[in-house]
Amino acid sequence: MSFKNLNLINPIIRAATEAGYSRPTEIQYNAIPHILAGKDIRGCAQAGSGKTAAFAMPILQLLKKYTPDHKEVRTLILTPTRELAIQIEENFKIYSKYLPLSQLSVYGDVSRGSQLAALRKRVDILIATPGRLLDLVSQRPMDLSKIEMLVLDDADKMLDMGLINDVKNVVKLVPNKRQTLLFSGTMPLGIRKLAETLLNAPIEVTA
Ligand code: AMP
Repeated sequence: MSFKNLNLINPIIRAATEAGYSRPTEIQYNAIPHILAGKDIRGCAQAGSGKTAAFAMPILQLLKKYTPDHKEVRTLILTPTRELAIQIEENFKIYSKYLPLSQLSVYGDVSRGSQLAALRKRVDILIATPGRLLDLVSQRPMDLSKIEMLVLDDADKMLDMGLINDVKNVVKLVPNKRQTLLFSGTMPLGIRKLAETLLNAPIEVTA
């Protein structure tokens, strides 16, 4: 099984090949076709499974289809920590190497100034910890009304860290009509309930 069999476009396959990936991992094989088909996903996958690429590659492909002359954020990724936000941004940077798409991560424990300045430029994919995003939105209104894809990554960790209320408050700022992908290492009841309220007829995928 190759990335081509998953109907990924050449600019993405080329970037993945240059990153040293020869074939999709199981979660990529299971999730990418459904994401490209516009489905919501409830994915059970641990770090190390290749789950970041499993959502990043199809998201880039879907964004590529949209008109390039927009200024608003089109995809929002929520993640629990600064380290994970940076990792996800680095993943997007690798796969978007041959695409005219930009990504930015924002997270707590650093000054807001440079993040607010960076948000003035065009950002296609915004990766954020939920608390910092709410904080930035309160400082400077941000148009999240054009978001078409929302990803909750490491949802169980966000639950453990007490971030679910922040997640729910962020979700209130994005349109209901969207594609939503939820990834979690484990599926405790709190996450299954959250998934029920946020996902529309989700496909379940595992690593
Ligand atoms: P993740 O589970 O997203 O944290 O990814 C774990 C590691 O696997 C990262 O270092 C990725 O760069 C790498 N990776 C992702 N997809 C593939 C693939 N198809 N083949 C080889 N390595 C991969």
